[in-house]
Amino acid sequence: MSPSLQPVLDRIADEIQRLPGRGRPADYIPALASADPRRFGMAVAELDGTVYGVGDWQQPFSTQSITKVFTLALDLSLEGELLWEHVGREPSGNPFNSLVQLEYEHGIPRNPFINAGALVVTDRLQSLTGDAAGVLRDFLRAESGNDRLTFDEHVADSETEHGDRNAALAHFMASYGNIANAVPELLSQYFRQCSVEASCGDLALAAGFLARHGIRADGSTLLTRSQAKQVNAVMLTCGTYDAAGDFAHRVGLPGKSGVGGGIIAVVPGRCTLCVWSPGLDQRGNSVAGVAALDRFTTLTGLSVF
Ligand code: GLN
Repeated sequence: MSPSLQPVLDRIADEIQRLPGRGRPADYIPALASADPRRFGMAVAELDGTVYGVGDWQQPFSTQSITKVFTLALDLSLEGELLWEHVGREPSGNPFNSLVQLEYEHGIPRNPFINAGALVVTDRLQSLTGDAAGVLRDFLRAESGNDRLTFDEHVADSETEHGDRNAALAHFMASYGNIANAVPELLSQYFRQCSVEASCGDLALAAGFLARHGIRADGSTLLTRSQAKQVNAVMLTCGTYDAAGDFAHRVGLPGKSGVGGGIIAVVPGRCTLCVWSPGLDQRGNSVAGVAALDRFTTLTGLSVF
């Protein structure tokens, strides 16, 4: 990548400062509600691990649903195609925590990035490893090189206390036989997974395997080229929930958001990005984050299209 990317990031950060509206932090998880919507960070990681950053790019934040990409990749690497018998890969067009389609689909969630689908993926990773959240944390540490990366137990507890919706999703799918572990154990793993704290720099590096066609930072293979393509495809079509069409239109990259205000995005064969700003739009995506990625692909011309 050309060294001229740092000025691009600096210019975007400058523009974002003048953005009129920043949205509001997620308040359905009380521990996230106090985040400051004026915070903004952005990082880009090249394939060789070189990182560029601007603003709060080294500040750890609550990764939330961004972790769904990593658990999907870890599960796919262990069980391969079998996963797709238990979770679909169609955009849902519904909010990320929606229950409505599950009954029509007989307990098979539409995709791995809505909460129902992520619960199935975590359930399967738990059955295969005995410690889904721990395996995720260790993977993120290895790829980012940050050994201090860990869970925020306060956020995990906060989600557990307000977890009725996710509990309902898990119980409903269990009634169709699509959840193997006891629901309380699954929820505990899922909430720990969502509570991982990491910075834009950490996440841009950790997502690098998606730009390297499945190859990890140490050169070993996590996913086949075809599987890496599958994960990027599901990110493009489902990674920002019922805003995936708008995100593809504006940004033109596979991306995955979380209600902590982070978004990761992939330019296959080129680089990975992570932006963070806690103010969300009504669909749960970071307002400044989407705007920054929109500007990045416009200014650089980088896109999958
Ligand atoms: N932990 C959150 C939840 O399950 C994750 C949602 C998100 O980031 N979109 O509700």
